[in-house]
Amino acid sequence: MRLSRYFLPVLKETPAEAQIASHRLMLRAGMIKQAQAGIYSWLPLGYRVLKKIEAIVHEEQARAGHIPMLMPTLQSAELWRESGRYDAYGPEMLRITDRQGRDMLYGPTNEELITDIFRSHVTSYRDLPMTLYHIQWKFRDEVRPRFGVMRGREFYMKDGYNFDVDRDAALHAYNRHMVSYLRTYERMGLKAIPMRADSGPIGGDDTHEFLVLAETGESEVFYDAAITDLTLGSREVDYASEEECRAIVEEWTAPYARTDETHDAALFEAIPEDRRRTSRGIEVGQIFYFGTKYSEAMGATVTNSKGEVVPVHMGSHGIGVSRLVGAIIEASHDDKGIVWPEGVTPFHCGIVNLRQGDAACDAACEEIEAALEAQGLEPLYDDREERAGAKFATMDLIGLPWRITVGPRGIAAGTVELTSRRTGESEEMSLLAAVDRVA
Ligand code: ATP
Ligand code: MG
Ligand code: MG
Ligand code: MG
Repeated sequence: MRLSRYFLPVLKETPAEAQIASHRLMLRAGMIKQAQAGIYSWLPLGYRVLKKIEAIVHEEQARAGHIPMLMPTLQSAELWRESGRYDAYGPEMLRITDRQGRDMLYGPTNEELITDIFRSHVTSYRDLPMTLYHIQWKFRDEVRPRFGVMRGREFYMKDGYNFDVDRDAALHAYNRHMVSYLRTYERMGLKAIPMRADSGPIGGDDTHEFLVLAETGESEVFYDAAITDLTLGSREVDYASEEECRAIVEEWTAPYARTDETHDAALFEAIPEDRRRTSRGIEVGQIFYFGTKYSEAMGATVTNSKGEVVPVHMGSHGIGVSRLVGAIIEASHDDKGIVWPEGVTPFHCGIVNLRQGDAACDAACEEIEAALEAQGLEPLYDDREERAGAKFATMDLIGLPWRITVGPRGIAAGTVELTSRRTGESEEMSLLAAVDRVA
């Protein structure tokens, strides 16, 4: 991509309305523009990151054997009356009336709609287990939308729903989701800690939230420092194996980790003092097992192996896809700007031409661009007629992991400069060596 032909409306001033770093940086880096309170347009750079995150979510869901689909944003109030949530949900639900006077709503979540789909088509335990999910815009009329995309009113969420014949099978689905979520966050360069949580309006007993530690997080969290040492890394997981999933969940849930809603002071005090941590966290996902709450209310039943008709056991599982963009920046930035983890960066490498219009510099930049593209990478080539300082500031702000700087002095000596955004370290090397290092 050539920056001269791209749309990257970088802001020089720090926007006054932004209270936290991620919101400030997303506005300054031209990633989003507020359309209304809590509602944002995703400008090209922001859109790229959103799609990278979405792609990781899809890949990890596929690995766990979950099936993608797409449900609409607008739902009929009828279904929500069946579950009893139309009245219970309160003013966070955006209610709409169509020209026929029918009550509709912009979905804040999809338990009712998916249960209706399930009951219309599935009648036997032989079709189970089944987990369906989608990634779709949601609307919640939050009392206090703030922090940019972190607490929007319209936001992008992955929500998945498991259908199982009994409690044991549904708990396997719960564990499978926990493991797949751990992998998902790790691939985004995040440490997201599963914490015992409260189920809120979704209902049910078993639930964990995934929290990214950050001072600006809205939840107060209490945990045993031992949990931050855990990683899945490149561990292969057989998602079909109940034992394997359960073992990983046991490993991750053994150390104490809870939000203020479920915090138990006595259990916390039992942790050795040097490992006790109190902090704040950003909720980037939550998983629930709620049994037959919706299936009983809405008549979603299957015949089990004994020929009995039983309500199906369900759970629901959400990842805040758009919130993650902000959460990743909260966890990874410095005073110059964003520092993208490799897995979600909008472009892999910036190319800065210090002497635009100089035949040798232009040719070298184009060669680097083509070589990176040939490796399947996406470079962003700053080919504008701008001062070096301005070009560097833009690259630092948008936070690409690598920058290759091309100038007349280096080119005469056969070298370019490769700079790591994370460490700030620069090294002179040949053009091909720089391309190899980035790839
Ligand atoms: P919160 O406690 O932050 O209000 P929630 O518990 O109401 O979130 P869930 O119903 O668990 O949200 O939805 C799943 C995920 O969707 C959350 O973990 C969060 O990452 C994301 N999410 C929820 N509300 C918002 C919002 N207003 N803006 C952006 N993302 C959101
Ligand atoms: Mg909420
Ligand atoms: Mg919550
Ligand atoms: Mg939640």
